[in-house]
Amino acid sequence: MEHLSSDERMMGEALAEAASALEAGVFPVGAVLARGAQVLGRAHKSMASNHLSHAEMNLFHRVFMGDYRFSRADGLTLYTTLEPCVMCFGTLLHLPIARLVYAMEDAYGGCASVTLTGAPLRHQHRPVEIVAGVRRSEAKALFATFLDTTSELFWREGGAPPFQAAVRGTGRADV
Ligand SMILES: [Zn+2]
Repeated sequence: MEHLSSDERMMGEALAEAASALEAGVFPVGAVLARGAQVLGRAHKSMASNHLSHAEMNLFHRVFMGDYRFSRADGLTLYTTLEPCVMCFGTLLHLPIARLVYAMEDAYGGCASVTLTGAPLRHQHRPVEIVAGVRRSEAKALFATFLDTTSELFWREGGAPPFQAAVRGTGRADV
């Protein structure tokens, strides 16, 4: 049996969430928050027409609303099947999350690799370890199925071209 690393195993949980979104006809991003081997929460993108309902935001609402006792020392890891956007990455930086692990890069709107030079003092140092490309091909396959089947005009009319090219295998970093 294939040996999976702990990151690969946990990404499997995020991929399962992404598959649930796909079954509902929603852009298939899944996210999981973990402390070591413990899953603290899981979510997926839930509404095509709600641009705040990204998988990560749904997850953050579940884990970080109300009182919580997590600190960066807990080593919380966010697993997500797509590189976070500016909203989700910005929120991640505000939260006590120590690591970000994602499956597929978002060549159109991904923000994990942005530099924070010139940002306000609080954000000039980015205390988050980032690991990219974990189970990328499986995330990519879900996006390909979505693009083949969605009725959303944005995607059918070629929205986010660099992302679509990467999913179709014609973009950069095709593996
Ligand atoms: Zn987002």
